[in-house]
Amino acid sequence: MTDIDVAVTLLDRVQALPETGRAIPDAATGETIGYAPEHTVADLDDAVARAKAAQPAWEALGHEQRTALLLRTADAIDAHAEELARLLSREQGKPLDGPNARFELGGCSAWLRESATAELTSQVITDGENDIAEVTYRALGVVGAIGPWNWPLMIAIWQIAPSLRMGNTVVVKPSEYTPLSVLALVSVMNEVLPADVLIPVVSGDREVGARLASHPDIDKIMFTGSTATGRKIVEASGANLARLTLELGGNDAGIVLPDADPQAIAEGLFWGAFINTGQTCAALKRLYVHDAIYEQVVDALAAIAAQMPMGNGLDGGNVLGPLQNAKQFEIVKRLVDDARARGRRIVTGGAPAPELGATFFQTTLVADAQDGDPLVDEEQFGPALPIIRYTDVEDAIASANRLDVGLGASVWSSDRDAARAVAGRLRAGTVWINSHGTIHPKIPFGGVKGSGYGLEFSVEGLKAVSETRVIAG
Ligand code: NAD
Repeated sequence: MTDIDVAVTLLDRVQALPETGRAIPDAATGETIGYAPEHTVADLDDAVARAKAAQPAWEALGHEQRTALLLRTADAIDAHAEELARLLSREQGKPLDGPNARFELGGCSAWLRESATAELTSQVITDGENDIAEVTYRALGVVGAIGPWNWPLMIAIWQIAPSLRMGNTVVVKPSEYTPLSVLALVSVMNEVLPADVLIPVVSGDREVGARLASHPDIDKIMFTGSTATGRKIVEASGANLARLTLELGGNDAGIVLPDADPQAIAEGLFWGAFINTGQTCAALKRLYVHDAIYEQVVDALAAIAAQMPMGNGLDGGNVLGPLQNAKQFEIVKRLVDDARARGRRIVTGGAPAPELGATFFQTTLVADAQDGDPLVDEEQFGPALPIIRYTDVEDAIASANRLDVGLGASVWSSDRDAARAVAGRLRAGTVWINSHGTIHPKIPFGGVKGSGYGLEFSVEGLKAVSETRVIAG
Protein backbone atom coordinates (compact mmCIF):
# COMPACT_ATOMS: atom_id res chain seq x y z
CA MET A 1 0.00 0.00 0.00
CA THR A 2 1.32 3.47 -0.79
CA ASP A 3 1.26 6.36 1.66
CA ILE A 4 -1.69 7.85 -0.14
CA ASP A 5 -3.66 4.56 -0.12
CA VAL A 6 -3.30 4.25 3.64
CA ALA A 7 -4.81 7.68 4.22
CA VAL A 8 -7.51 6.98 1.66
CA THR A 9 -8.84 3.95 3.54
CA LEU A 10 -9.91 6.27 6.33
CA LEU A 11 -10.94 9.00 3.92
CA ASP A 12 -13.50 6.65 2.34
CA ARG A 13 -15.45 6.76 5.56
CA VAL A 14 -15.66 10.49 5.87
CA GLN A 15 -15.78 12.12 2.47
CA ALA A 16 -18.81 13.25 0.52
CA LEU A 17 -19.57 12.47 -3.11
CA PRO A 18 -17.68 14.78 -5.51
CA GLU A 19 -20.98 16.22 -6.77
CA THR A 20 -22.09 17.20 -3.29
CA GLY A 21 -18.84 17.92 -1.50
CA ARG A 22 -16.22 20.65 -1.43
CA ALA A 23 -12.85 19.62 -2.89
CA ILE A 24 -10.12 19.69 -0.24
CA PRO A 25 -6.56 20.12 -1.53
CA ASP A 26 -3.35 18.49 -0.38
CA ALA A 27 -1.60 21.43 1.29
CA ALA A 28 1.75 20.57 -0.30
CA THR A 29 0.73 19.67 -3.86
CA GLY A 30 -2.71 21.21 -4.40
CA GLU A 31 -4.05 17.84 -5.60
CA THR A 32 -7.60 17.10 -4.41
CA ILE A 33 -7.46 14.57 -1.59
CA GLY A 34 -11.17 14.25 -0.88
CA TYR A 35 -14.54 15.95 -0.72
CA ALA A 36 -15.87 17.47 2.48
CA PRO A 37 -19.60 17.46 3.13
CA GLU A 38 -21.26 20.88 3.04
CA HIS A 39 -23.54 20.98 6.05
CA THR A 40 -26.07 23.77 6.19
CA VAL A 41 -27.46 25.86 9.03
CA ALA A 42 -30.45 23.45 9.05
CA ASP A 43 -28.03 20.51 9.48
CA LEU A 44 -26.43 22.36 12.36
CA ASP A 45 -29.78 22.94 14.04
CA ASP A 46 -30.53 19.23 13.67
CA ALA A 47 -27.13 18.32 15.17
CA VAL A 48 -27.69 20.59 18.19
CA ALA A 49 -31.16 19.10 18.73
CA ARG A 50 -29.76 15.56 18.66
CA ALA A 51 -26.88 16.47 20.97
CA LYS A 52 -29.36 18.07 23.39
CA ALA A 53 -31.56 14.98 23.36
CA ALA A 54 -28.58 12.68 23.98
CA GLN A 55 -27.08 14.73 26.82
CA PRO A 56 -29.14 13.60 29.86
CA ALA A 57 -28.41 9.89 29.24
CA TRP A 58 -24.72 10.61 28.69
CA GLU A 59 -24.52 12.54 31.95
CA ALA A 60 -26.50 9.84 33.74
CA LEU A 61 -23.91 7.21 32.75
CA GLY A 62 -21.72 8.63 35.51
CA HIS A 63 -18.03 9.45 35.67
CA GLU A 64 -16.75 5.89 35.79
CA GLN A 65 -18.46 4.76 32.63
CA ARG A 66 -17.65 7.95 30.76
CA THR A 67 -14.02 7.58 31.79
CA ALA A 68 -13.98 3.98 30.54
CA LEU A 69 -15.49 4.98 27.19
CA LEU A 70 -13.13 7.91 26.76
CA LEU A 71 -10.14 5.69 27.49
CA ARG A 72 -11.39 3.37 24.76
CA THR A 73 -11.60 6.29 22.31
CA ALA A 74 -7.93 7.01 23.11
CA ASP A 75 -7.10 3.38 22.29
CA ALA A 76 -9.08 3.65 19.04
CA ILE A 77 -7.13 6.78 18.07
CA ASP A 78 -3.86 5.00 18.81
CA ALA A 79 -4.98 2.07 16.65
CA HIS A 80 -5.63 4.45 13.73
CA ALA A 81 -2.83 6.90 14.52
CA GLU A 82 -0.76 6.27 11.41
CA GLU A 83 -3.72 6.63 9.02
CA LEU A 84 -4.87 9.77 10.79
CA ALA A 85 -1.35 11.23 10.76
CA ARG A 86 -1.05 10.65 7.00
CA LEU A 87 -4.40 12.26 6.28
CA LEU A 88 -3.51 15.16 8.59
CA SER A 89 -0.15 15.54 6.89
CA ARG A 90 -1.77 15.85 3.47
CA GLU A 91 -4.62 18.12 4.46
CA GLN A 92 -2.78 20.36 6.94
CA GLY A 93 0.68 20.11 5.35
CA LYS A 94 2.67 19.26 8.47
CA PRO A 95 5.27 16.52 7.99
CA LEU A 96 4.87 13.11 9.55
CA ASP A 97 8.25 13.50 11.24
CA GLY A 98 9.52 16.06 13.76
CA PRO A 99 7.13 17.73 16.20
CA ASN A 100 4.37 17.48 13.62
CA ALA A 101 1.69 14.99 12.46
CA ARG A 102 2.63 11.83 14.39
CA PHE A 103 3.43 14.03 17.39
CA GLU A 104 -0.05 15.61 17.11
CA LEU A 105 -1.75 12.20 17.13
CA GLY A 106 0.31 11.18 20.18
CA GLY A 107 -0.90 14.38 21.85
CA CYS A 108 -4.53 13.54 21.04
CA SER A 109 -4.56 10.25 22.91
CA ALA A 110 -2.39 11.61 25.76
CA TRP A 111 -4.71 14.57 26.38
CA LEU A 112 -7.77 12.35 26.04
CA ARG A 113 -6.43 9.97 28.68
CA GLU A 114 -5.61 12.85 31.00
CA SER A 115 -9.09 14.39 30.64
CA ALA A 116 -10.69 10.98 31.09
CA THR A 117 -8.94 10.35 34.39
CA ALA A 118 -8.56 13.83 35.94
CA GLU A 119 -10.70 14.24 39.03
CA LEU A 120 -12.94 17.19 39.73
CA THR A 121 -14.56 16.08 42.94
CA SER A 122 -17.21 17.80 45.00
CA GLN A 123 -16.05 19.67 48.09
CA VAL A 124 -17.55 20.10 51.50
CA ILE A 125 -17.05 23.50 53.11
CA THR A 126 -16.94 23.78 56.88
CA ASP A 127 -16.96 26.79 59.20
CA GLY A 128 -14.54 25.06 61.52
CA GLU A 129 -17.21 23.11 63.38
CA ASN A 130 -20.01 22.20 60.99
CA ASP A 131 -20.36 21.34 57.34
CA ILE A 132 -22.07 24.37 55.85
CA ALA A 133 -22.14 23.69 52.13
CA GLU A 134 -21.39 21.17 49.41
CA VAL A 135 -19.95 22.33 46.10
CA THR A 136 -20.56 20.04 43.13
CA TYR A 137 -19.67 20.25 39.45
CA ARG A 138 -22.28 19.26 36.87
CA ALA A 139 -22.50 19.22 33.09
CA LEU A 140 -23.50 22.41 31.32
CA GLY A 141 -25.44 20.71 28.51
CA VAL A 142 -24.33 21.01 24.87
CA VAL A 143 -20.88 22.37 24.06
CA GLY A 144 -20.08 23.89 20.65
CA ALA A 145 -16.42 23.33 19.71
CA ILE A 146 -15.02 25.61 17.00
CA GLY A 147 -11.45 25.05 15.92
CA PRO A 148 -8.63 26.36 13.68
CA TRP A 149 -6.54 24.72 10.94
CA ASN A 150 -3.08 24.67 12.51
CA TRP A 151 -3.35 21.86 15.08
CA PRO A 152 -6.85 20.72 14.08
CA LEU A 153 -6.88 17.33 15.80
CA MET A 154 -5.12 18.18 19.04
CA ILE A 155 -7.19 21.31 19.54
CA ALA A 156 -10.42 19.40 18.77
CA ILE A 157 -9.47 16.93 21.50
CA TRP A 158 -8.69 19.75 23.94
CA GLN A 159 -12.25 20.95 23.43
CA ILE A 160 -14.05 17.61 23.17
CA ALA A 161 -12.36 15.51 25.86
CA PRO A 162 -13.04 17.61 29.00
CA SER A 163 -16.53 18.42 27.73
CA LEU A 164 -17.47 14.76 27.34
CA ARG A 165 -15.74 13.83 30.59
CA MET A 166 -17.99 16.20 32.53
CA GLY A 167 -21.16 14.83 30.90
CA ASN A 168 -21.74 17.37 28.17
CA THR A 169 -22.45 16.40 24.59
CA VAL A 170 -20.51 18.15 21.83
CA VAL A 171 -21.14 19.59 18.38
CA VAL A 172 -17.75 20.09 16.76
CA LYS A 173 -17.18 22.46 13.84
CA PRO A 174 -13.72 22.17 12.32
CA SER A 175 -12.01 24.84 10.24
CA GLU A 176 -13.08 24.90 6.60
CA TYR A 177 -9.39 24.29 5.75
CA THR A 178 -9.05 20.99 7.65
CA PRO A 179 -12.46 19.27 7.77
CA LEU A 180 -11.44 15.78 6.62
CA SER A 181 -8.88 15.13 9.36
CA VAL A 182 -11.34 16.17 12.07
CA LEU A 183 -14.15 14.13 10.51
CA ALA A 184 -11.85 11.11 10.44
CA LEU A 185 -10.86 11.62 14.08
CA VAL A 186 -14.50 11.92 15.13
CA SER A 187 -15.46 8.83 13.12
CA VAL A 188 -12.79 6.84 14.98
CA MET A 189 -14.04 8.12 18.36
CA ASN A 190 -17.63 7.39 17.39
CA GLU A 191 -16.77 3.70 16.92
CA VAL A 192 -16.79 3.70 20.74
CA LEU A 193 -19.11 6.50 21.87
CA PRO A 194 -22.93 6.28 22.08
CA ALA A 195 -24.89 7.91 19.24
CA ASP A 196 -25.16 11.71 19.16
CA VAL A 197 -22.77 12.36 22.01
CA LEU A 198 -20.21 13.81 19.59
CA ILE A 199 -21.53 15.23 16.32
CA PRO A 200 -19.39 16.88 13.60
CA VAL A 201 -20.76 19.69 11.47
CA VAL A 202 -18.61 20.58 8.50
CA SER A 203 -18.97 23.54 6.20
CA GLY A 204 -17.02 26.02 4.15
CA ASP A 205 -19.73 28.55 4.89
CA ARG A 206 -18.81 30.67 7.91
CA GLU A 207 -22.54 31.19 8.62
CA VAL A 208 -22.59 27.72 10.14
CA GLY A 209 -19.96 28.67 12.74
CA ALA A 210 -21.76 31.93 13.42
CA ARG A 211 -25.04 30.05 13.97
CA LEU A 212 -23.35 27.64 16.37
CA ALA A 213 -22.04 30.59 18.42
CA SER A 214 -25.50 32.14 18.71
CA HIS A 215 -27.60 28.96 18.94
CA PRO A 216 -30.11 29.13 21.83
CA ASP A 217 -29.49 25.48 22.80
CA ILE A 218 -25.71 25.78 23.05
CA ASP A 219 -24.59 26.19 26.64
CA LYS A 220 -20.89 26.73 26.08
CA ILE A 221 -18.59 27.63 23.20
CA MET A 222 -15.02 26.43 23.21
CA PHE A 223 -13.32 28.52 20.56
CA THR A 224 -9.77 28.48 19.29
CA GLY A 225 -8.93 30.79 16.44
CA SER A 226 -8.20 34.39 15.63
CA THR A 227 -8.84 37.35 17.90
CA ALA A 228 -11.09 38.91 15.25
CA THR A 229 -13.38 35.87 15.14
CA GLY A 230 -13.25 35.64 18.93
CA ARG A 231 -14.77 39.12 19.15
CA LYS A 232 -17.62 38.06 16.82
CA ILE A 233 -18.27 35.02 19.00
CA VAL A 234 -18.49 37.18 22.12
CA GLU A 235 -21.18 39.25 20.40
CA ALA A 236 -23.04 36.24 19.01
CA SER A 237 -23.12 34.43 22.35
CA GLY A 238 -24.60 37.45 24.10
CA ALA A 239 -28.13 36.52 23.08
CA ASN A 240 -28.31 33.41 25.26
CA LEU A 241 -25.33 34.12 27.54
CA ALA A 242 -23.51 30.96 26.47
CA ARG A 243 -20.32 30.58 28.44
CA LEU A 244 -17.09 31.00 26.51
CA THR A 245 -13.54 29.75 26.52
CA LEU A 246 -11.55 31.79 24.02
CA GLU A 247 -8.07 30.72 22.96
CA LEU A 248 -7.07 33.42 20.52
CA GLY A 249 -4.02 34.66 18.70
CA GLY A 250 -0.67 35.45 20.25
CA ASN A 251 2.59 37.19 19.45
CA ASP A 252 4.88 35.54 21.95
CA ALA A 253 8.14 37.22 22.90
CA GLY A 254 11.30 35.46 24.03
CA ILE A 255 14.02 37.28 26.00
CA VAL A 256 17.57 35.91 25.91
CA LEU A 257 19.55 37.21 28.89
CA PRO A 258 23.27 37.98 28.47
CA ASP A 259 24.40 34.94 30.48
CA ALA A 260 22.62 32.40 28.25
CA ASP A 261 24.72 29.85 26.35
CA PRO A 262 23.92 30.41 22.64
CA GLN A 263 24.82 26.86 21.59
CA ALA A 264 22.84 25.27 24.41
CA ILE A 265 19.64 27.21 23.72
CA ALA A 266 19.68 27.35 19.90
CA GLU A 267 17.69 24.19 19.23
CA GLY A 268 15.06 25.06 21.85
CA LEU A 269 14.73 28.53 20.35
CA PHE A 270 14.44 27.10 16.85
CA TRP A 271 11.61 24.71 17.68
CA GLY A 272 9.96 27.29 19.90
CA ALA A 273 9.59 29.43 16.79
CA PHE A 274 9.32 26.93 13.93
CA ILE A 275 7.18 24.12 15.36
CA ASN A 276 4.50 23.32 12.77
CA THR A 277 6.40 25.61 10.40
CA GLY A 278 5.59 28.54 12.69
CA GLN A 279 1.82 28.03 12.46
CA THR A 280 1.32 27.68 16.18
CA CYS A 281 -0.60 30.00 18.48
CA ALA A 282 1.97 29.82 21.26
CA ALA A 283 5.08 29.82 19.07
CA LEU A 284 7.96 32.21 19.67
CA LYS A 285 7.22 35.06 17.28
CA ARG A 286 9.69 37.81 18.31
CA LEU A 287 13.05 37.20 19.92
CA TYR A 288 14.84 39.83 22.03
CA VAL A 289 18.55 39.03 22.43
CA HIS A 290 21.09 40.92 24.55
CA ASP A 291 23.73 42.76 22.57
CA ALA A 292 26.57 40.85 24.30
CA ILE A 293 25.62 37.54 22.66
CA TYR A 294 23.42 38.76 19.81
CA GLU A 295 25.57 37.62 16.87
CA GLN A 296 26.35 34.27 18.51
CA VAL A 297 22.64 33.54 18.99
CA VAL A 298 21.85 34.57 15.40
CA ASP A 299 24.67 32.36 14.06
CA ALA A 300 23.65 29.38 16.21
CA LEU A 301 20.03 29.68 15.04
CA ALA A 302 21.12 29.97 11.41
CA ALA A 303 23.23 26.81 11.74
CA ILE A 304 20.24 24.88 13.10
CA ALA A 305 17.91 26.29 10.44
CA ALA A 306 20.28 25.06 7.71
CA GLN A 307 19.98 21.48 9.00
CA MET A 308 16.18 21.26 9.04
CA PRO A 309 14.71 19.80 5.85
CA MET A 310 11.53 21.31 4.41
CA GLY A 311 9.31 19.52 1.90
CA ASN A 312 6.34 17.25 1.32
CA GLY A 313 5.11 15.95 4.66
CA LEU A 314 4.86 12.34 3.57
CA ASP A 315 8.54 12.24 2.56
CA GLY A 316 10.42 10.87 5.54
CA GLY A 317 12.97 13.20 7.11
CA ASN A 318 11.21 16.48 6.36
CA VAL A 319 10.44 18.42 9.51
CA LEU A 320 9.12 21.66 7.99
CA GLY A 321 6.21 21.90 5.55
CA PRO A 322 4.19 24.43 3.56
CA LEU A 323 1.95 27.19 4.83
CA GLN A 324 -1.42 25.52 5.15
CA ASN A 325 -3.19 27.86 2.75
CA ALA A 326 -2.53 30.61 0.22
CA LYS A 327 -3.99 33.32 2.47
CA GLN A 328 -1.48 32.55 5.22
CA PHE A 329 1.35 32.31 2.67
CA GLU A 330 0.52 35.83 1.44
CA ILE A 331 0.56 37.21 5.00
CA VAL A 332 4.02 35.76 5.68
CA LYS A 333 5.39 36.94 2.32
CA ARG A 334 4.06 40.47 2.85
CA LEU A 335 5.62 40.76 6.31
CA VAL A 336 9.03 39.41 5.24
CA ASP A 337 9.06 41.61 2.09
CA ASP A 338 8.28 44.60 4.29
CA ALA A 339 11.17 43.76 6.64
CA ARG A 340 13.54 43.56 3.68
CA ALA A 341 12.26 46.87 2.33
CA ARG A 342 13.04 48.45 5.72
CA GLY A 343 16.64 47.28 5.39
CA ARG A 344 16.43 44.53 8.00
CA ARG A 345 19.07 41.79 7.66
CA ILE A 346 17.74 38.57 6.11
CA VAL A 347 20.05 35.97 7.65
CA THR A 348 18.49 32.87 6.13
CA GLY A 349 15.55 32.30 3.75
CA GLY A 350 13.42 35.35 3.06
CA ALA A 351 11.62 34.09 -0.05
CA PRO A 352 9.04 31.57 -1.27
CA ALA A 353 10.25 28.09 -2.21
CA PRO A 354 8.15 27.38 -5.33
CA GLU A 355 10.25 24.36 -6.25
CA LEU A 356 8.69 22.64 -3.21
CA GLY A 357 5.11 23.78 -3.83
CA ALA A 358 2.94 26.88 -4.16
CA THR A 359 2.69 27.75 -0.45
CA PHE A 360 6.16 26.81 0.77
CA PHE A 361 8.20 29.67 2.27
CA GLN A 362 11.85 29.28 3.23
CA THR A 363 12.86 29.11 6.89
CA THR A 364 13.54 32.78 7.56
CA LEU A 365 15.57 34.57 10.23
CA VAL A 366 15.45 38.38 10.16
CA ALA A 367 18.13 40.11 12.25
CA ASP A 368 18.19 43.75 13.39
CA ALA A 369 14.39 43.86 13.40
CA GLN A 370 12.76 46.62 15.45
CA ASP A 371 9.62 47.08 17.49
CA GLY A 372 7.08 48.72 15.18
CA ASP A 373 8.06 46.58 12.17
CA PRO A 374 4.93 44.77 11.00
CA LEU A 375 6.93 41.50 11.12
CA VAL A 376 7.39 42.11 14.85
CA ASP A 377 4.04 43.66 15.73
CA GLU A 378 1.67 41.42 13.72
CA GLU A 379 1.19 37.71 14.34
CA GLN A 380 3.06 36.33 11.33
CA PHE A 381 2.07 32.68 11.92
CA GLY A 382 4.68 31.22 9.59
CA PRO A 383 8.34 30.21 9.24
CA ALA A 384 9.83 33.65 9.95
CA LEU A 385 11.45 34.88 13.15
CA PRO A 386 12.42 38.53 13.74
CA ILE A 387 15.37 38.94 16.13
CA ILE A 388 15.66 42.24 17.99
CA ARG A 389 18.78 43.52 19.79
CA TYR A 390 18.57 45.03 23.30
CA THR A 391 21.07 46.35 25.82
CA ASP A 392 18.91 47.00 28.91
CA VAL A 393 16.68 44.16 30.12
CA GLU A 394 14.11 46.75 31.26
CA ASP A 395 13.65 47.68 27.60
CA ALA A 396 13.24 44.01 26.62
CA ILE A 397 10.58 43.51 29.31
CA ALA A 398 8.74 46.65 28.16
CA SER A 399 8.91 45.45 24.54
CA ALA A 400 7.64 41.99 25.41
CA ASN A 401 4.66 43.52 27.27
CA ARG A 402 3.82 46.27 24.80
CA LEU A 403 1.41 44.39 22.50
CA ASP A 404 -2.26 43.75 23.27
CA VAL A 405 -1.89 39.96 23.28
CA GLY A 406 -0.44 37.70 25.97
CA LEU A 407 -0.57 33.97 25.26
CA GLY A 408 3.00 32.81 26.01
CA ALA A 409 6.48 34.22 26.54
CA SER A 410 9.89 32.81 27.43
CA VAL A 411 13.11 33.76 29.19
CA TRP A 412 16.44 32.10 28.33
CA SER A 413 19.31 32.16 30.82
CA SER A 414 21.88 29.99 32.61
CA ASP A 415 20.64 31.46 35.90
CA ARG A 416 17.22 30.09 36.79
CA ASP A 417 16.56 32.67 39.51
CA ALA A 418 17.40 35.57 37.20
CA ALA A 419 15.13 34.05 34.56
CA ARG A 420 12.27 33.61 37.03
CA ALA A 421 12.58 37.22 38.16
CA VAL A 422 12.13 38.41 34.57
CA ALA A 423 9.39 35.80 33.93
CA GLY A 424 7.33 37.19 36.81
CA ARG A 425 7.22 40.57 35.08
CA LEU A 426 5.95 39.31 31.71
CA ARG A 427 2.21 39.56 31.18
CA ALA A 428 1.37 36.28 29.44
CA GLY A 429 -0.71 33.22 30.30
CA THR A 430 2.42 31.04 30.45
CA VAL A 431 6.06 32.09 30.69
CA TRP A 432 8.52 29.29 29.94
CA ILE A 433 12.13 29.23 31.09
CA ASN A 434 14.66 27.85 28.59
CA SER A 435 11.92 26.44 26.36
CA HIS A 436 8.92 27.83 24.52
CA GLY A 437 5.48 26.34 23.95
CA THR A 438 6.06 23.16 25.94
CA ILE A 439 2.58 22.32 27.16
CA HIS A 440 1.47 19.53 29.49
CA PRO A 441 -2.03 18.13 30.09
CA LYS A 442 -1.71 18.64 33.86
CA ILE A 443 -0.72 22.33 33.57
CA PRO A 444 -3.47 24.93 32.94
CA PHE A 445 -3.11 26.81 29.65
CA GLY A 446 -4.75 30.02 28.47
CA GLY A 447 -4.10 33.57 27.41
CA VAL A 448 -4.40 37.02 28.94
CA LYS A 449 -5.23 40.37 27.31
CA GLY A 450 -6.32 39.93 23.66
CA SER A 451 -5.26 36.27 23.66
CA GLY A 452 -8.56 35.32 25.25
CA TYR A 453 -9.93 34.04 28.52
CA GLY A 454 -10.78 30.77 30.19
CA LEU A 455 -8.36 27.94 30.87
CA GLU A 456 -7.84 24.58 29.21
CA PHE A 457 -6.16 21.38 30.50
CA SER A 458 -5.97 20.06 34.07
CA VAL A 459 -8.77 20.36 36.58
CA GLU A 460 -9.16 24.00 35.49
CA GLY A 461 -10.17 22.72 32.05
CA LEU A 462 -12.82 20.49 33.60
CA LYS A 463 -14.22 23.40 35.62
CA ALA A 464 -14.50 25.40 32.40
CA VAL A 465 -17.04 22.94 30.99
CA SER A 466 -19.01 22.49 34.20
CA GLU A 467 -21.47 24.45 36.22
CA THR A 468 -20.74 24.86 39.89
CA ARG A 469 -23.71 24.09 42.12
CA VAL A 470 -23.79 24.76 45.83
CA ILE A 471 -26.06 23.10 48.36
CA ALA A 472 -25.85 25.15 51.51
CA GLY A 473 -27.09 24.21 54.95
P1 NAD B 1 -10.26 31.85 12.39
O1 NAD B 1 -10.66 32.72 13.51
O2 NAD B 1 -10.27 32.41 11.03
O3 NAD B 1 -11.16 30.55 12.33
C1 NAD B 1 -11.30 29.70 13.47
C2 NAD B 1 -12.64 28.98 13.38
O4 NAD B 1 -13.71 29.92 13.53
C3 NAD B 1 -12.90 28.25 12.07
O5 NAD B 1 -13.49 27.01 12.36
C4 NAD B 1 -13.87 29.17 11.36
O6 NAD B 1 -14.70 28.52 10.45
C5 NAD B 1 -14.69 29.69 12.53
N1 NAD B 1 -15.40 30.94 12.28
C6 NAD B 1 -15.12 31.91 11.38
N2 NAD B 1 -15.99 32.94 11.50
C7 NAD B 1 -16.83 32.61 12.50
C8 NAD B 1 -17.92 33.26 13.14
N3 NAD B 1 -18.33 34.48 12.75
N4 NAD B 1 -18.55 32.63 14.16
C9 NAD B 1 -18.14 31.43 14.59
N5 NAD B 1 -17.10 30.76 14.03
C10 NAD B 1 -16.46 31.34 13.00
O7 NAD B 1 -8.80 31.34 12.79
P2 NAD B 1 -7.82 30.41 11.93
O8 NAD B 1 -7.28 31.25 10.83
O9 NAD B 1 -8.46 29.12 11.63
O10 NAD B 1 -6.67 30.10 13.00
C11 NAD B 1 -5.54 30.89 13.17
C12 NAD B 1 -5.65 31.73 14.41
O11 NAD B 1 -5.97 30.92 15.53
C13 NAD B 1 -4.36 32.41 14.78
O12 NAD B 1 -4.63 33.75 15.15
C14 NAD B 1 -3.85 31.64 15.97
O13 NAD B 1 -3.01 32.35 16.83
C15 NAD B 1 -5.11 31.22 16.62
N6 NAD B 1 -4.88 30.03 17.43
C16 NAD B 1 -4.94 30.15 18.78
C17 NAD B 1 -4.69 29.05 19.57
C18 NAD B 1 -4.72 29.15 21.06
O14 NAD B 1 -4.74 28.15 21.74
N7 NAD B 1 -4.76 30.33 21.61
C19 NAD B 1 -4.43 27.82 18.99
C20 NAD B 1 -4.40 27.73 17.61
C21 NAD B 1 -4.64 28.85 16.84
